[in-house]
Amino acid sequence: MDALRILITRRWPVEVERAMAAQFDVVLNEGDKPLSQADLAAAMGEFDVLCPTVSDRIDADVIGGGDRVKLIANYGVGFDHIDLAAAKAKGIAVTNTPGVLTDATADIAMTLLLMAARRAGEGERELRAGQWSGWRPTHLVGSALKGKVLGCVGFGRIAQATARRAHHGFGMKVAYYARRPADEAVAQELQAEFTPDLINLLGKADFVSLHVPGGAETASMIDAAAIAAMKPGSYLINTARGGVVDHAALAAALRSGHLAGAGLDVYPAEPQVPAELLDIENVVLLPHLGSANSETRIAMGMCAMANVEEFAKGAELPNPVT
Ligand code: NAP
Repeated sequence: MDALRILITRRWPVEVERAMAAQFDVVLNEGDKPLSQADLAAAMGEFDVLCPTVSDRIDADVIGGGDRVKLIANYGVGFDHIDLAAAKAKGIAVTNTPGVLTDATADIAMTLLLMAARRAGEGERELRAGQWSGWRPTHLVGSALKGKVLGCVGFGRIAQATARRAHHGFGMKVAYYARRPADEAVAQELQAEFTPDLINLLGKADFVSLHVPGGAETASMIDAAAIAAMKPGSYLINTARGGVVDHAALAAALRSGHLAGAGLDVYPAEPQVPAELLDIENVVLLPHLGSANSETRIAMGMCAMANVEEFAKGAELPNPVT
């Protein structure tokens, strides 16, 4: 049988690109420029497998662009950029890369939490601008973490890994909003308090960290009313998806002082960043770095490749998305 013809839409770590090319007929995106919607649609008729990532919008028009692709092997755990219903209607399988980026993303959630709490972005900007006048007791005073409540919205893999760091590393208390309680062993280990009402969680957390998937169900889950329900002087951390937050309401709450700070890794229309945030000092803005360490990026590629390998054998897919 001929090797599967595969399109990898963005540059991957070179180790994984080589491993893919050794087994399959792979087309790489050497220039790493995002493909247009028309290019993606055309690819549906030219390849057996499409390997996209979060910067590609695989909507119904793209999926309708051709009949050859039978597997979309996403590089990443989030899949809200792929129209699953359209893929299913055409009999196209979709896979993702869960688990391998959990620790890296939890590390970035803690990075944002620490940077916001300790005003690290403000301090670095001040120093680089030559504005630092020296140590003084009242300079850039932030918040302690010990004994404070981390409120996780969603309590899956990344939320639990973040809570583990916050609880065992920084002495924080953990509460979470989810649709069902966590396993007893996890709840015990993290002494995590299940809070089945979102508004209730928002009212008691000193730091709210978002960990639900993106998509229609969670769009603007943290809207103006939810932000108003957050504890005065609290912080919002988002490593989930930008669409979960109403950024106009967030900007207003940061400007009014209702929120003490925020830390964001993701935005609704990346790479655009909501303009109203850019001149606010107490928001830390990272460019979607959640999984960006080399070990993790290689592991994500190997995980995507494992799905392609099983597909090529006609075997059960390791990480199907349903
Ligand atoms: P996960 O283990 O599937 O966790 C997601 C959790 O959200 C699940 O426990 C799920 O609970 C819960 N959930 C889903 N919809 C909900 C709703 N409407 N209300 C309350 N809870 C809901 O996924 P993960 O690996 O932790 O990843 C979480 C998300 O992080 C991904 O989807 C992705 O968008 C984002 N992410 C971002 C980066 C980054 O670079 N910043 C990196 C990796 C992932 P149920 O059991 O009730 O479904």
